[in-house]
Amino acid sequence: MKLTIHDIKNWLYIAKEKINEEELYLTNLDKLIGDGDHGTNMVRGFNAIIDQLQKESYHTVSDLMLLCARSFMTTVGGASGVLYASAFLMMGKSFQSKKTIDRDHFLKGLEEAIRAIEHRGNVSYGEKTMLDVWTDVTRLFQQSKGFPQAEQIDFVAKKAMENTRYSLAKKGKAVLYEESSIGHIDPGAASAYYLFKSLAKVFKEKGHE
Ligand code: ADP
Ligand code: MG
Repeated sequence: MKLTIHDIKNWLYIAKEKINEEELYLTNLDKLIGDGDHGTNMVRGFNAIIDQLQKESYHTVSDLMLLCARSFMTTVGGASGVLYASAFLMMGKSFQSKKTIDRDHFLKGLEEAIRAIEHRGNVSYGEKTMLDVWTDVTRLFQQSKGFPQAEQIDFVAKKAMENTRYSLAKKGKAVLYEESSIGHIDPGAASAYYLFKSLAKVFKEKGHE
């Protein structure tokens, strides 16, 4: 299997729908251990991507990822804006001008993305952030010969999100909640789960279930 520009566009459209559907849930998670804007932030970012996609044509997967980075950087305030933007930017750079993306290209993009989040957020795995989901999905890709199956991606990303419930927040606004951050899912981990759940849906539509 290879991912085409059509698949990446499909991924963004599906993610935009899912994030809009879950806006209130993401905001409510952020009310519990943050400032209650994560749903609004993510909706703003994804709506900006799709608005632009409908206005202009994009011919490479790399340009699409760079569009995501720009949209998040310019329309989303807050930690998540910068962090998602850096992740998308590094994916875009690593895809270069490739017409299609195979498992090795995609894995390299993910590895660059997590390095960008770690660097920008000064964050490590297990600190109850979006990085936990990005990292576990990257590990799944590392362990798979070809692209992992749709169901595996969904399962691993969901589990990583759920695991944030049991960890203590060490980064971002949730740090202020100290011990009482335990027991709540991290909002950024939830949005990252929806991003990869949407990718899994693309794989499923391509018959890679
Ligand atoms: P803000 O925290 O500025 O209000 P959002 O609410 O949109 O921004 O995003 C919060 C999410 O961003 C958190 O749930 C967490 O996953 C992620 N996050 C915040 N700070 C960091 C960081 N330093 N490193 C990695 N992720 C972070
Ligand atoms: Mg917030």
